[in-house]
Amino acid sequence: MRYVSTREQTQTVTFATALLGGLAPDGGLYVPQKIPTVNPSAWERSTDFGTMAANVLTPWLGDEIPKAELESILRGALNFPVPLVRVGNVWVLELFHGPTLSFKDFGARTMARLMNRFVDGEPLTILVATSGDTGSAVADGFCGLPNLRVAVLYPKGQVSTIQERQLIVRREGVRAFAVDGTFDDCQAMVKSLLVSPGRLRLSAANSINIGRLLPQMLYYYWAFATGGWKVADVCVPCGNLGNLTAGVLAHLCGLPVRSFIAAHNANDGYPRYLAGEEDVFGASIRTLSNAMDVGKPSNFERLKFMLSDDQMRRMIRGSSWSDGETLDSIRRVYEETGYIADPHTAVALAATRDAPDPVIVLSTAHPAKFPDTIERALGSTPEVSSGLTSLCAMPVRVQSIEAKPHALRSKLEIWD
Ligand SMILES: *Cc1c(COP(=O)(O)O)cnc(C)c1O
Repeated sequence: MRYVSTREQTQTVTFATALLGGLAPDGGLYVPQKIPTVNPSAWERSTDFGTMAANVLTPWLGDEIPKAELESILRGALNFPVPLVRVGNVWVLELFHGPTLSFKDFGARTMARLMNRFVDGEPLTILVATSGDTGSAVADGFCGLPNLRVAVLYPKGQVSTIQERQLIVRREGVRAFAVDGTFDDCQAMVKSLLVSPGRLRLSAANSINIGRLLPQMLYYYWAFATGGWKVADVCVPCGNLGNLTAGVLAHLCGLPVRSFIAAHNANDGYPRYLAGEEDVFGASIRTLSNAMDVGKPSNFERLKFMLSDDQMRRMIRGSSWSDGETLDSIRRVYEETGYIADPHTAVALAATRDAPDPVIVLSTAHPAKFPDTIERALGSTPEVSSGLTSLCAMPVRVQSIEAKPHALRSKLEIWD
């Protein structure tokens, strides 16, 4: 298995190089040079996630990591349940039972353990700028791994109370920095240090890393294995299109998806592209489903590389939903079924209201992470999950810093 950049395909690299590098040197994103064959026996009728995960990813990674070791890495990373539940006319695959209660745990926890496996010598410091779920999933996924450290940057005062708590809880090998600035400032600081690291050994953990996409294929297979269908539709609540790209990869390896439904909030560039428009991407708009507030989805470049416009438009249907429709969706689903959906899942549920059976809705976050929105929709707050309760009792550690790259550099140089 070799990987190439979406821009120039002159050089192929190993998975380890793609994983540790993140972005290709030409600024492109790594994609598989050739899609490997995943035999249906790898996942059909699976009843154990760990066994299935190793079977499915061995054709992708088997020449770099022996299968038994891969299986133990995957079991350690993906050690939480992935239930498929019936909600009205759809099947909801709950991807939020990991430690930080969003589906970002799949990618972050697996990528962390894979990176730890390939790093040697001096510890590698992972930089992550975050405005929401990614930072906590990365901080949690990477903590306590001996060869890795994490620096999380977030804009002070601009993340929700629960999200901040999840970011600053004290973790081994993790430092949280509250930046006096915006999310864009945080990203600019990270980029500046990555471009000129000096004597620091740095890497990034944003959603462009191929190491986050491969584990995200696994729950698509799991849904089909658990449901036992010959064919089904899958609806994905989309932002940066990483989740959807992982599903497309699984489909290209043979998973019998009839069609994908890409459900977006008011950031509707991709649905407009699917409808045939051009020049569709622009600045992001803030919405209630804030982890999907992406104006220029970076994984679009991967989708364009793997599929022609025609193929993409045949395989994927897009739609976009306003905040008002998102609140209506939470309310309607609760009234009809008693199920409480978080605002991201609610967008996907709005998109599948009249979908033919069977349709799988990927549920990307626990509703308890968004008490204000649930309260607005239902007049009461969801039951707090036990994970969040214990989080509030844990010690925290955070340092405030100026929005300047040198401020971050000096903190990283005296890591204690
Ligand atoms: C990140 C995120 C999304 C969007 O996923 P992409 O892979 O960026 O398309 C949707 N819902 C939640 C809760 C998320 O955290």
